[in-house]
Amino acid sequence: MDCDVAVLGGGPAGYTAAIRAAQLGGKVVCIEQEPALGGTCLRVGCIPTKAWVQTAHALHDARETFAKLGVGVSEPQLDFGQAAAWKDAVVKQMTGGVAGLLKANGVEWLRGTGRFTSPTTIAVEGAEDVTFKSAIVATGSYPMRPPIPGLDSPRCLDSTGLLALTAALACAAFAAASGWSVRRGAARAARPRPRHVEERPLPARRRSAPPEHRRSTGRHLG
Ligand SMILES: Cc1cc2nc3c(=O)[nH]c(=O)nc-3n(C[C@H](O)[C@H](O)[C@H](O)COP(=O)(O)OP(=O)(O)OC[C@H]3O[C@@H](n4cnc5c(N)ncnc54)[C@H](O)[C@@H]3O)c2cc1C
Repeated sequence: MDCDVAVLGGGPAGYTAAIRAAQLGGKVVCIEQEPALGGTCLRVGCIPTKAWVQTAHALHDARETFAKLGVGVSEPQLDFGQAAAWKDAVVKQMTGGVAGLLKANGVEWLRGTGRFTSPTTIAVEGAEDVTFKSAIVATGSYPMRPPIPGLDSPRCLDSTGLLALTAALACAAFAAASGWSVRRGAARAARPRPRHVEERPLPARRRSAPPEHRRSTGRHLG
């Protein structure tokens, strides 16, 4: 496939560049390996985390603010499955919106992992090669995993792992984000009205890692 501009990566950098290049009259192909456009931001970053923040705010308001405003509701409960479904729906709507924008601007989305094979060619796994006059590399970045012992354990989650959870553990993260301390095992957090979640903010000294943890992490990183 020939084009004027090949854009490698369909995240916020790539899809906006692709749209602009098409608006300026170029024939543009955007190559993205994930099943949805939008990159980290829309799929596993800014958007899903902010969807959850909205749920956390609603929960917090129901507990802390409604009564002050004269609104009476029964004790709010976190339905984590519904919060996850809401988050997924927001992501789907946004990534679908990007696909629609590319289409409306005449940008072709080629699904697959791209690799430069010459100064004017990108080979796309599972799709045809793309030959281009100009290329934009917008492949984003990947998190560095510091050499902390135990980090490969399934009990250690990064943000993508957290967002993929559909139950218990993430409940504890929600509770913490809402300013409640989590006292016992996270597995118990999915109870409709968890007794281990205290309705008070964490003391300031508990909000950061204990000094010995900070020191040990620093040693590994140093
Ligand atoms: C949890 C979290 C929350 C965040 N919240 C915010 C926020 O609130 N506000 C904010 O401004 N930023 C936030 N960010 C950062 C934001 O997501 C990134 O800055 C942004 O996504 C970078 O955009 P990008 O297009 O450069 O890269 P990416 O979004 O990473 O997009 C790169 C795309 O290229 C694709 N790709 C890579 N290599 C290839 C290849 N060889 N072939 C085909 N495709 C390829 C990838 O699949 C990916 O879709 C957050 C990030 C995370 C992880």
